[in-house]
Order: sequence, then C-alpha cells, then structure tokens
Amino acid sequence: MSSSTPKVGFVSLGCPKASSDAERILTQLRAEGYEISGSYEGSDLVVVNTCGFIDSAVEESLDAIGEALNRNGKVIVTGCLGAKAGVVQNAHPSVLAVTGPHALEEVMSAVHDNLPKPHDPYTDLVPPQGVRLTPRHYAYLKISEGCNHRCSFCIIPSMRGDLVSRPVGEVMNEAENLVNAGVSELLVISQDTSAYGVDVKYRSGFWNGRPLKTRMTELTKALGELGVWVRLHYVYPYPHVDEVIPLMAEGTILPYLDVPFQHASPRILKSMKRPASSENNLARIKAWREICPDITIRSTFITGFPGETEEDFAMLLDFLQEAELDRVGCFAYSAVEGAAANALPDQVPEEIKQERLARFMALQEAISAEKLRRKVGSIQTVLVDEVNGDEAIGRTSADAPEIDGVVYLADAEGLQPGDLVEVQITAADGHDLWAAPPSE
Ligand code: SF4
Repeated sequence: MSSSTPKVGFVSLGCPKASSDAERILTQLRAEGYEISGSYEGSDLVVVNTCGFIDSAVEESLDAIGEALNRNGKVIVTGCLGAKAGVVQNAHPSVLAVTGPHALEEVMSAVHDNLPKPHDPYTDLVPPQGVRLTPRHYAYLKISEGCNHRCSFCIIPSMRGDLVSRPVGEVMNEAENLVNAGVSELLVISQDTSAYGVDVKYRSGFWNGRPLKTRMTELTKALGELGVWVRLHYVYPYPHVDEVIPLMAEGTILPYLDVPFQHASPRILKSMKRPASSENNLARIKAWREICPDITIRSTFITGFPGETEEDFAMLLDFLQEAELDRVGCFAYSAVEGAAANALPDQVPEEIKQERLARFMALQEAISAEKLRRKVGSIQTVLVDEVNGDEAIGRTSADAPEIDGVVYLADAEGLQPGDLVEVQITAADGHDLWAAPPSE
C-alpha cells in the first residue's frame, strides 16, 4: 500500500454490540481504500467508538478520546456516549465530529470531510466476510438493533431506538461468509434475540433461493446448517424460546442459553419493567433441562434495585439455589443518567447493595464450583483459542468468549487456534477447568 494512502486509527470500547458497529465501520473504511493504522502517531485521524452505559464506561470513553486528541489531534467520536447530548463536546470541544451508535453513514461522512477518500478504492482488498475485531475463529453476528422494551434501569432504547431486525437473508449471507472465511463459532447478539422479527411481523426473506422466516427459531435452525458452533445471547424467557431447546438437544446449535433474568422477586421484576416478567422461570428452566440435560444457562442479576427489601433479596437467593445456573454475573444497582429507575422511591443504601452482592456471589460461587467439579473426569470438546508452546487455552460449549471461564490444556503441541479437540477434564475451580488429552 502506498505511503500516501490515508490512514485511520480505530479505538473500540464497550460491549459486543459496539464491536459489531466497529466492524462495520472498519469494513467500510477498508472498502473505500483507507488503511487501518495500529498507532495514533501513524494515523491521519482516529475514530473512537465509545460506550456510555455506566459512569465508569463514560469515564473510560472520555479518557480514550482525550488520549487520542493528545497523541493524534484529529478525532471522530461514535458510539453510545455520542448519543448523550453534549457530553463529549463539553469535555473535548476540539473533536471533529460526534455521532451516536449504529451510525455508519454519519461516521463515514465525517471521515470523508476530514480525510478525503483515496482516488482508487481497493474494494478487492476487503474479504467478503468484512473486517473483524474478534480472533479469526469466532465472530459476533448481530441480528437486530434497538429494543422495544423499556426496562426502568436501561437507557439503550433511548439511545438506539426501537427494535429493527436485520433482513434474515442478509444475516445468513454474513454468517455463511464468516464460516467460509474459517470462523468456527458464531455468537448471535442483539438487545433482545428472542424478539427477532417482531418488527417485520416475522416476514419471510430468502436465503440461497429458499424462503426463511425472520424469526429466532427459523434463523437458529438455518445457522445450525452451517456446521459451526452457534451460541445464543440475550434471550428473554418468552414461551417460544422453548422451541430452540430441542435444537440444542439434537446438536444443531450449542446447548447454551444466555438469559438475563436480573431478579426473581415478581415485585422487583415488575418495577424493573422486565420483558416476560410474569413467566415462571424456575419451571421453565426445569423443563429446558428435561429436554436438554447438558444445557448451560448463563444469566445476569442486579442487587439493591430501588425498593428491594430483604424479603425480595431472599427470594433472589432462593431462586439462585433452586435454579443452579451455570454461569452468573451480578452487579450492585447503579443509577444510569437518564434511566427511569432513578426516580423510584426507596433507593437502597450503597453498603446494603454491596453486602447483598457479596452474599449473592458467595452463594453462586459455591454452586458454580460444584457444577464444574462434576465435570472432572469427563471428556469434553474444546475450541482452542490460544496456543503458547505446549499449552493452550480453549473453551467448551459451556463457555462464551470473554464472559465465561476457560479450559487450560496441557500437552497441546501442534494445536492451532480454531481447532476442536476432545480432552479429558483433570481439575476445576470456581470458574475454570484444566484438561489433558484423554487417557487411552
Ligand atoms: S430489554 Fe431492557 S435492558 Fe435490554 S436493551 Fe431492552 S430496555 Fe434495555
């Protein structure tokens, strides 16, 4: 590539959804002939993709913008923080442009205004699967943007708008391109995966000349035909979720369900305005395990939501004890600027939120440790993520990248990232597993 090729630096912060936005921008930049530079100093301008979800993310994003301004000087800001009126401009008035999330065209137009595109676009330099930020063997597949719910602690709908599902044919083509490029695992993401297609009344699209409904079950089945690991994230427990459990039991997709329950007290769930809040989740989990005994259920919870009494919290602990979830994340409630929950009465004092969080995590850790301990001695299939000499790090179907545990593999000579190998689990702690080649 010639030295006169315009070079863009890129910093991406935030969740997988933000990474997916970043991938689109990077793909478009490459398609138009821009070079992506790995350093501030070697770039003609820098795009910073921000997160604005909680206060610490806001600070991290503002710091990243400040660093890019100091070291490069020409900075375009995109992402969730950009949607918060005036925050970026007030902190850093010299940024060239600010857009919200999911704003490919606005970002590209700001890039064009400040760094004209090369005359001869190297469109052939962009592989059909686009440019990705995740390692070559797994990729996030974003199926929709926005959300029709109005959970009282969340500001995503006000930043990203109502649900807009991507056309099913487009999603499938992207998935197929990724698989053809060597991806072994597709992670399906959105704000509300089970609502996929609601906005277009589940209309039929086309994939490879055959009709396919814009609906989670149909999409999942089609993805299962691609012959790679398919993992579902952000699934709310609506009744139709039951339809995908048999697909997990028969091996079409991974037996893994990421369901953010957030609480177990009906009163708190109602006050949180959670989707599917009146479902009997314990009964559902039991039914799912009957159909697919190997299912891994991951969830997230909040302690100390406004109005949470000791009785509500006890219900949450009881739920945890009964549900025996495999993977759990938990946060003490923290007010997010602009969220409706800030105005709720009976805010819980910080030390009680933290104390409940600690009790919650202690209980869950014992449950997770026991569940992992039961895997010692078993044979598992592991997807290799990283190889260092004769050791490797991988994941079983029960571990999503970046959020769950890992498997440390001994005697791993000759393995490559992306390989699927059978191993025998030799040890476990509360989070991770250790394994070696199966004994004969
Ligand atoms: S379901 Fe609730 S928490 Fe999730 S994005 Fe929508 S409003 Fe926010």
